[in-house]
Amino acid sequence: MFDYQSHFTSAIDALHTEKRYRVFADLERIAGRFPQAIWRHDGSAVEITVWCSNDYLGMGQHEKVVAAMQQTATSMGTGAGGTRNISGTTHPLVELEQELADLHGKEAALVFTSGYVSNEASISTIARLLPDCLILSDELNHASMIEGVRKAGGRKQIFRHNDVAHLEELLKAADPARPKLIVFESVYSMDGDIAPVAAICDLAERYNAMTYIDEVHSVGMYGPRGGGICEREGLAHRVDVIEGTLAKAIGVLGGYITGSRAVIDAVRSYAPGFIFTTALPPALAAAATASIRHLKQSQVERQGQQRQAAQTKAVLAQADLPVMASETHIVPVLVGDADLCKRASDHLLEKHGIYIQPINYPTVPRGTERLRITPTPLHDDALIERLRDALVETWQSVGIAFASTRQETS
Ligand code: PMP
Repeated sequence: MFDYQSHFTSAIDALHTEKRYRVFADLERIAGRFPQAIWRHDGSAVEITVWCSNDYLGMGQHEKVVAAMQQTATSMGTGAGGTRNISGTTHPLVELEQELADLHGKEAALVFTSGYVSNEASISTIARLLPDCLILSDELNHASMIEGVRKAGGRKQIFRHNDVAHLEELLKAADPARPKLIVFESVYSMDGDIAPVAAICDLAERYNAMTYIDEVHSVGMYGPRGGGICEREGLAHRVDVIEGTLAKAIGVLGGYITGSRAVIDAVRSYAPGFIFTTALPPALAAAATASIRHLKQSQVERQGQQRQAAQTKAVLAQADLPVMASETHIVPVLVGDADLCKRASDHLLEKHGIYIQPINYPTVPRGTERLRITPTPLHDDALIERLRDALVETWQSVGIAFASTRQETS
């Protein structure tokens, strides 16, 4: 008899052996008091500070966003009640798509139930609709983009991370007549670096390739209206498809793509991940619209976040903590070992009430395990100082190398 259960247990055991078995922290957010939260653990409820949330601007508790969700749930009910095609296209969703198209200066937008689904469904559909399409994909692209590339089923080439020369080599070697799709991100979320978007657009124009950018970690946070890195750099009109999420800086849930009417209509008409699933509920769409509208005209959250991120980097670096280079709001602190990373995270939570999830392989390469800290405008200077003290004590007590020690030994 085939022993099904033992196969699952040994797969799990392998993760334990590699010290990368994931444990979830059971949290209760406290509306109006984020980044404070309650951690449910061993029958107790402990108040903690969250330092690893992707609710980058705290919009998940913004009064306009909460009110929009509540009012729409009261007036329209909870679920969408169907797929987009069969009764699920509610008016708040139509309005949200108009708002998103305007945010990115594109003709049209299409909303999915998550950013993950939007990448997987759109990349695979766009590539399949182009005959014999060659996909050129940055080596550090997110898992959802990799799945989209795989599902496309055609030929793909991986270019070295942010390496424009390597991308050009691959473009040059390809048949000029063949359709090509370059897929990349603007802000890479684990290192906090930014793609050379203008240079990639130059190449795309020179070699007649289409471009698809994931702005998941920049929408809401960069550009004068929160349109992301492409808006900040005046490049939105040069990128064919801009993808984003409603779940991070926007503070709700869902994903989307924006682009020309033709490409959006094609994905709408052919992508199984869009067609055969229930639409985003109207209350979530209304909340996302309220958040986007607010962020289009308010600079307060963006500026607050930039300031607190810069402050966090400076304060941690002054304390000799190994803050990795980052051009953005993301503050990665290097640990370099999966076991130490997990122990540091447990110690911070249990002893200091500070929650930072360890980031291990395969999310980042082995040997670069880290704590990924995401300051928001709501992490004030006193919280940053408490974070520094807790990290220093943790580095000493768990036995992790400080920045100066690391340099001496390397
Ligand atoms: N793209 C990138 C670069 C991401 O980091 C993530 C999620 N962390 C996604 C897409 C998926 O977005 P969502 O969480 O909305 O599914």
